[in-house]
Amino acid sequence: MYIFCTFVGMNYASKYLENAVNEMSQLPGIGKRTALRLVLHLLKQPESQTTALARALVDLKTEIRFCKQCHNISDTDICEICNDTQRNKKIICIVEDVRDVMAIENTSQYKGVYHILGGKISPIDGVGPGDLSITSLVKKVEEGAVDELIFALSSTMEGDTTNFYIYKQIEKYNIKTSTIARGIGVGDELEYADEVTLGRSILHRVPFENSLKVN
Ligand SMILES: [Zn+2]
Repeated sequence: MYIFCTFVGMNYASKYLENAVNEMSQLPGIGKRTALRLVLHLLKQPESQTTALARALVDLKTEIRFCKQCHNISDTDICEICNDTQRNKKIICIVEDVRDVMAIENTSQYKGVYHILGGKISPIDGVGPGDLSITSLVKKVEEGAVDELIFALSSTMEGDTTNFYIYKQIEKYNIKTSTIARGIGVGDELEYADEVTLGRSILHRVPFENSLKVN
């Protein structure tokens, strides 16, 4: 505690140093002490390297956009996956975020497209259905643009709640719904599943209704 208090009241010797430490320590898992270590490291690097880092961070916010069709992170209005003519646009895999897309793409087993929700319904965290891109998904189904929806959210309570909420919205359209048959434990996040298991799960998906009966 004594060390902590001493640190908080630290004289940074430069307002620029203090500013950089303050900004760096806004990142998750980075305390003031780690932030100071990183900033001092950057200070020792050639200017070109620090400039490249700063540029990459600015570009991250100004250049990256979200695909108008699937909401995936993209450098263009329509992402590479949605633009790929080899893919079946009528099979849509519902995932939480871009990390899930990356995990599934790494398996090279899936030839449909995705719909990125941007999270899961979680009342505790204040995330409701309106905070996720569910309306645009239901619209795709409504318009008859979907043959099959694959539910690939993690098997957590939030994931199950979100799946069920979406299922109820699209049930009346009588399209095929499935869920990936994962050989991994309940609660395991999709991005941590190994590629072979995940690839097999996508190929051997099961009707979504079956997962409801299990629960
Ligand atoms: Zn897309």
